[in-house]
Amino acid sequence: MDRKTVTDMLKKYGYITSPEVEKAFLTVPRESFVLPGYRDRAYADTPLPILCGQTISAPSMIAIMLEVSQLARGISVLEVGCGSGYNVALIAEIVGEDNVLSIERIPELAEWGKENLKSAGYSVTVVIGDGTLGYPEKAPYHRIISTAAAPRIPSPWVNQLEPDGLIVCPVGSKHWYQELEVAQKTEKGDLVITHHGGCAFVPLIGEEGFRQ
Ligand code: SAM
Repeated sequence: MDRKTVTDMLKKYGYITSPEVEKAFLTVPRESFVLPGYRDRAYADTPLPILCGQTISAPSMIAIMLEVSQLARGISVLEVGCGSGYNVALIAEIVGEDNVLSIERIPELAEWGKENLKSAGYSVTVVIGDGTLGYPEKAPYHRIISTAAAPRIPSPWVNQLEPDGLIVCPVGSKHWYQELEVAQKTEKGDLVITHHGGCAFVPLIGEEGFRQ
């Protein structure tokens, strides 16, 4: 499969529904974000291993998360879990490079993600840290998107979210099964949570996440 074929397939089966997400998938070279041994499978609709026992999610899962995130140019985004950098490159295509930053717990992955982003032509800030605590230095955000699974939505994220903002996060057990939650912050600061199907993500490890 190539970039156009997988994008058309994701559109045909209803994973991609907006022109913004379609354009991002057609633009970002996924082959620049996978390990060299997996380049021939870069456009297969499957998760692939990256460094340090982590994964890059399947294109269909990424498309679901981007669509429920309701992104548009100028919206500020904190991505938790940079990994390869692929998802944050897609986000940058939609919201603009200066409006997104990514936080990664594992320094080796943060460095690799930064290199991948740079070689694919993206100038996105990647910081090393425990994303379960958010990143207060640049808060508030319109969106906080986690690409790792949490036992519950970390409370620092709620404090760092704009009213009406969205948190998008797989929530559930540490291994194998979670549900994708979208939590919208009300003017009063409460969360209204909707569920968007089952998923399987690596765990969000940290102070407000799972223990290692
Ligand atoms: N967005 C990534 C991509 O496009 O390749 C997906 C990476 S993987 C599914 C999830 C990532 O979350 C891993 O790189 C992992 O190290 C990271 N992670 C786990 N707990 C974290 C935390 N507390 N703070 C920041 N990153 C975390």
